[in-house]
Amino acid sequence: MKYNHALFMNPYIERASTSTMGLFPPTGLEYVATSTKGLVGKLTLLDLRYENELSKTDKLLDFIRNEIDIICVAIGWDRQFNEVCELLRLLPENIPLVVGGYKATERVEELFETCPTIDIIARGEAEETIKEILKGVPLKDILGISYRNGKRVIHNANRPLPNIDIIDAPDRSLRRNNYYLKLGGVKVANLTFDAVLSARGCPFNCKFCTFNLNPLGQKRSYSERTVKSVIKEIEGITANVILFSDDNFATNPKRAEEICDLIIARKLKKRFMAQARIEIAKSPKLLEKMVKAGFKMLSLGVESPHDYILTQLNKGFDQATIRKYFKVLKKYPIFYHGFFIYGNLGETEEEMLYIAQFSKEIDCDSIAFSKLRVDKYSPLREIAKNTPGYHVTDRGELYSDQFSHPALKKIGRKIKFSFYSPFKLLKIVKRFIVVRFFTFGDILSFLAASPFLLKNLIAREIQKKRLADTLKHLFLHKSS
Ligand code: SF4
Repeated sequence: MKYNHALFMNPYIERASTSTMGLFPPTGLEYVATSTKGLVGKLTLLDLRYENELSKTDKLLDFIRNEIDIICVAIGWDRQFNEVCELLRLLPENIPLVVGGYKATERVEELFETCPTIDIIARGEAEETIKEILKGVPLKDILGISYRNGKRVIHNANRPLPNIDIIDAPDRSLRRNNYYLKLGGVKVANLTFDAVLSARGCPFNCKFCTFNLNPLGQKRSYSERTVKSVIKEIEGITANVILFSDDNFATNPKRAEEICDLIIARKLKKRFMAQARIEIAKSPKLLEKMVKAGFKMLSLGVESPHDYILTQLNKGFDQATIRKYFKVLKKYPIFYHGFFIYGNLGETEEEMLYIAQFSKEIDCDSIAFSKLRVDKYSPLREIAKNTPGYHVTDRGELYSDQFSHPALKKIGRKIKFSFYSPFKLLKIVKRFIVVRFFTFGDILSFLAASPFLLKNLIAREIQKKRLADTLKHLFLHKSS
């Protein structure tokens, strides 16, 4: 064996990250680490968000110097990118450092330039690539990597996308911690979370979406795992809540029904969450089975209330269809979380603010909204660059002469407070109880943790110098 002890590391530190970032395991990194079993003497998987001692840089560096002879790091987000680079620069130069993940693939050149300790970047899906690196295959022969050769960086050809059914499910015994529901660093319930990927890719072509492309711009054709292998994986999971992290759980409604049938037949008592397109409303049989199987929450990409924007984004439905489908969806006891995009090309402030009102009209239980991004391979990139008054940064952020980043951020806060009134927050809690996402015991733990949550929230708003503004928005809220 070429290496005795490989370290796979999720480099984000919980105290600086949001609660959502800490809720689920770093599945991509776990897939890659699992694929290397038997190729190294020992494997250590570290999720720094959950490490007490080893999240301290000096302790981490001591551990690495004493134990590790190859380090693999996943960079999945733009958030904390600079902090992660800072950490990478401190890693010992004599230990090979391989970096991978969505953002590493997108920002290869920048990472080689700013982090002299990086030896190799594994681009795209890395399960096969990492095996060849660990086996000691000459770097020039490994598809899908970029590597240093003296002062030059060599980019090998892309690796064809692997068949999802030959990839092993993550080995959960590698974990050193469970994943809990934490808000602002405070554990609010004893609920544990996990994720299962039953299919990769998506057959749709929404123009803003880079989920359906890998970061190399390759379209991942939709490919499914066998239902049997998915159920077997679920049977081995101890967490209470499982997220199907497929882009769209209902791409193949028949197969989704089969998954539900088996969950019901085998009495797998879990609370499930999934992501889907709103067209899932066309499959009432599936929705019924999902409720029976324990699906409690569905995240839906609504994107916009405006027909011209939905067309611009190639979403494939219009406002009337959203209203029609939500009427059907709301008949099922599931918590619906809607995703929206604002700051679209040509969108006025009034149109952006309508997101909050529209979400209430269709009775969406909660919403998340983000500014339109036009990443490297987005078909919207050229259109945005050629639209007078609009600009795109190297990082894919879109802004305009009329709406700068700070102006868009301000509008985002207005949408947030217009939707999340104190009354709405109570309604959300009630809805979570009605759909039985939370048990009575969970609610009691939540109440016990609430003083700490409030304290943390106030501290964060003070640190961001916006406590007064937040209180004004919350309590002088006009309900519409
Ligand atoms: S937004 Fe959803 S449906 Fe559209 S392409 Fe992306 S993953 Fe597929």
